Amino acid sequence: MELLKRVKEHGLNRGDCMAYHDGQTGISYKELNAYSDRIASFLLETLPGDHSPIPVYGHKHPLMIAAFLGCVKAGHAYCPIDICMPMDRVKEIIGSLNTPLVFAIVEEEKTAAESLKGEADPEGRSSSVRVVTLSELLSIATGDPKEYPAPGEEAGLGLSDTFYMIFTSGSTGKPKGVQIPYECLNHFLDWSETLVDLPAGTEPIRFLNQAPFSFDLSVMDLYTYLAMGGTLQALDKETQNNYRLLFDRIRGADPEVWVSTPSFAELCLADPSFDGKLAPHLSRFLFCGERLANATALKLLQRFPGARVLNTYGPTESTVAVTAVEVTSEMCNEKEAIPVGRVKPGSFLRIARPDGQEAAEGEKGEILILGDTVSTGYYGQEELTRKAFFEETSGSAAVRGYRTGDEGYLKDGMLFYSGRLDLQVKLHGYRIELGDIESNLLKIPNVRQACVVPSYREGKVTSLTAFIVPTELSREGKKDERKSAALIKEQLRAYLPDYMIPKKFQFLETLPMTVNGKADRKKLMETQR
Ligand code: AMP
Repeated sequence: MELLKRVKEHGLNRGDCMAYHDGQTGISYKELNAYSDRIASFLLETLPGDHSPIPVYGHKHPLMIAAFLGCVKAGHAYCPIDICMPMDRVKEIIGSLNTPLVFAIVEEEKTAAESLKGEADPEGRSSSVRVVTLSELLSIATGDPKEYPAPGEEAGLGLSDTFYMIFTSGSTGKPKGVQIPYECLNHFLDWSETLVDLPAGTEPIRFLNQAPFSFDLSVMDLYTYLAMGGTLQALDKETQNNYRLLFDRIRGADPEVWVSTPSFAELCLADPSFDGKLAPHLSRFLFCGERLANATALKLLQRFPGARVLNTYGPTESTVAVTAVEVTSEMCNEKEAIPVGRVKPGSFLRIARPDGQEAAEGEKGEILILGDTVSTGYYGQEELTRKAFFEETSGSAAVRGYRTGDEGYLKDGMLFYSGRLDLQVKLHGYRIELGDIESNLLKIPNVRQACVVPSYREGKVTSLTAFIVPTELSREGKKDERKSAALIKEQLRAYLPDYMIPKKFQFLETLPMTVNGKADRKKLMETQR
């Protein structure tokens, strides 16, 4: 059944159950439905006939979810933007959406409103984006239902319309908006529920949410729990940065289903008290987004006896994940990396050789994903969409496909991931195009050339180093280099979120070149200090 109908039913059948809790405030199913109806009604009244995507800027606030649902109930896709993004990048995203309205769900209302409105144009007019602040949104959401009557079902999205748009790092320095239609989300949920595989009892199932809503991993918890009538126990960034707060919060949330990047689980595992005593009802671990190390999975199986650990794989462009496998201790003890799983119903995998021919069983090649959860492409970026996506006919139906840029191989239908074929990396679970960092480094006045390379440990990226050819090379040696590095980092923060800022900087007179005139990344990786 479609997601929105299910959420409506939960409102009727378990209206007083908690739908979302962040440790301090929560929202029940009844409230979630009522609030999102009023937000939808407000949008229909404010933007009649307009269907542009609506940016929802904020962090883990209960109203974020009401705003997401409010948008789609009014026929708008929503675009979640987390506060970890620097304002320049946020404005770039909002600008590219050409949208008349933004929801800013942050406490610092005045500053956010001023910044999000954008700069005045050359004639001195300020931009026409309307910023709806947290207090405004709260008064709409909790306002008089007569003023904001519930919208009819016909006002909402069609199945082929975009439900959400998530921006990922783009190699040219501009983030790409991946459009996910409502039907793709529904297909994904039909499958993700089977992964959770817990009976929906009278008490809602408690899901833990780690990822910010602007990362597609959050879709795995956010909508699976909503479809199942569960409770989402969200961890905000402050809690995640403090072990004591984090462990207290996990104990209090008492989650049954854990959804996170493997990196986050590793961070928790570093503390010996992260075990079945801390979260006695935790019975499912769902991972996606990066390599799940054999040792990490094994530790989880040992510390949470009886819990199931699932490794899932997929890019944002295919709606979170398309393969999954339950990890066993036998798999963890193999020399080979843990597989990423078998493909879900409705999706197909193909491993392509560089000449486009299908690879043989066990042969490595590019992973192509086809089927019912593949995105319709990047918003407003036709050329990029044409390059990454394709369409095929199967019988009388058209099937969309996506070239992942991931390398892997199939063995008896089981997919193994071996790495990337391009310059995209995953650092602590975040998807980063090295070209994105390089393009933004070049915006800094003292940077003439820049090349960013990753450091690896056990197949995982552990940090990034930026090699810089400055316009003026300092003659004062290392001390001055440290100062320059700090200055560049500071300037880069205006364009990139913290997780994309390289940890180390090295300055060179020239970049080493390959025979075909490109920066020699291999050589640079060898010269990292
Ligand atoms: P994102 O779009 O942020 O979800 O990132 C997608 C990319 O993360 C994929 O294209 C892979 O490179 C990587 N990835 C996702 N899941 C896994 C996994 N289970 N193991 C290894 N890499 C993964």
